[in-house]
Amino acid sequence: MIMKNMIKNVVMEYGTKTATVFEEVERTYQQFYNRINKVSNSLINLMIKKGDRVVLLLNNRPEYFELYFGIFGFGGIAVPLNTRLATTELIYIINHSGANTLIYEDVFKEKIATIINDLPEVKNFVSVGEKDEKSLNYEEMLQDAESTEIDCDVVEDDIAFLCYTSGTTGRPKGAMITHKNMTQMCSYQLIELPRFRHYIGMCLFPFFHIGVMMGLNKIAMGMTCVFANFSTERIAKVIEQYKVNDLDITATQLKIFSNDPVIQEYDLTSLKTVSTGGGFSSADTLRKFFERFKEDDDVVVANIYGMTENTAHVMSNIISPKTLGKEIKKMDLLPGIKASGLGAGKPIYGMLVKLVDNNGYQVPENEAGELIVKGDTVMKGYWQEPDKTAEAVIDGWYYTGDIGVRLETGEYFVVDRKKDMIVSGDENIYSAEVENVLATHPEIEEVAMIGLPHEVYGEVAIAIVVLKEESSVNDQELQDFCRGKLAGYKIPKQVHFAQQLPRNASGKILKHRLKATYSE
Ligand code: ATP
Ligand code: MG
Repeated sequence: MIMKNMIKNVVMEYGTKTATVFEEVERTYQQFYNRINKVSNSLINLMIKKGDRVVLLLNNRPEYFELYFGIFGFGGIAVPLNTRLATTELIYIINHSGANTLIYEDVFKEKIATIINDLPEVKNFVSVGEKDEKSLNYEEMLQDAESTEIDCDVVEDDIAFLCYTSGTTGRPKGAMITHKNMTQMCSYQLIELPRFRHYIGMCLFPFFHIGVMMGLNKIAMGMTCVFANFSTERIAKVIEQYKVNDLDITATQLKIFSNDPVIQEYDLTSLKTVSTGGGFSSADTLRKFFERFKEDDDVVVANIYGMTENTAHVMSNIISPKTLGKEIKKMDLLPGIKASGLGAGKPIYGMLVKLVDNNGYQVPENEAGELIVKGDTVMKGYWQEPDKTAEAVIDGWYYTGDIGVRLETGEYFVVDRKKDMIVSGDENIYSAEVENVLATHPEIEEVAMIGLPHEVYGEVAIAIVVLKEESSVNDQELQDFCRGKLAGYKIPKQVHFAQQLPRNASGKILKHRLKATYSE
């Protein structure tokens, strides 16, 4: 199956149904499909061919979806860019992808102007929104194009999507996601998540992130999709106004949303299925979120674990107000480790998951090991990085670099990233575990644990702490705070104080940078 088929079937049956809603503008599935075909035809008119890369730099808006399906439609490869990347990072990804076309929203006009001379291979510039004299205007381009369906020779194994990873552990890598990867992910999610065609959907995952699969899938299912960019009040208002049933929201967004008192002023009870991912979700966040519902309301939160290289979804844990208490208790079942968040649940349909040691042997239940994944959704490889591909995908198994534990019930917990684990005197210290304990200190704003090389112990565990304003707590007091909460060997040997922590455009802390700074 290829991505084009997913939408074509829906349009045949639901042509008059509303597909997209954005800032009061509504489009039916037929109108949406016509625009998709216009995107395909106009890009072909620009001499863009199958296999060419088209870079996208836009905020979450319906044009993003039109562009995705339009590019997939003729066999082009969509390369979405994180909107928060610094200019040097933008230049790196655009040039690394070898794209000949860049489509951007007008709000990024100035950013593009500053890098335009560093993009020798880009021949076509298209602006979405206000006109920009240096570029072709998106709406004008569509006006001039045919809405007829194009014949394409796209096959399942063709690349649809070149999705760069967040760059948390190093330079971003371009995961080559094929049509088969995507269509299989859509069908697995259909089987796995309680979401239905008659639902009103809203996807708040950034559309440049692999999490956009959850949003594209809503279209493939025939849901009406409401578009909005994240701010707590705006989202609460839109949920109430459109009676949104199916919401995709990142773990960070869900935390901000649930803790903002403004949500008390809005009716959120239309929500049925809330999918969250991209990081750990805490029991506190879910407790706060469920406060807006009654215990027997049929709302659920699906805590999703996944990554770019597996076209998003690997496992999920579906939690309701009634089952939250049970899920919190499970956090105590991890042997000798404090869970960093709620359980990741079980592998979704179609996904094989194993936990292995450094020699590739499967570890028993209740023991920590690297999570590896196999299935039709594992990427084709990293774009132009055969060595990294060979390291990451072995015999079809993708080595996630994450450490997990499997309970006797078959449920998994994600404990830490392998690269963040500190090995000190033969003991493994999961940095996420220590960070979670320190984060409960009332004077700590944020914290990151890193391991620094040590002659005797191999590594020593160091905490880098950002304190809340006017706090005067010292290193000794923070170490004492950990005592009793963590085994002695996990307590940071040193505590350093910083003004802020380096983060990437996805908001994840860049530990390799911290290690470089503190090992000097
Ligand atoms: P890079 O691969 O470039 O270092 P990245 O791994 O952060 O960056 P993504 O593919 O966006 O890039 O993120 C996937 C990672 O996010 C997973 O490997 C895992 O470490 C983390 N993650 C995703 N979902 C969850 C979750 N539910 N709980 C805990 N961690 C999660
Ligand atoms: Mg990764």
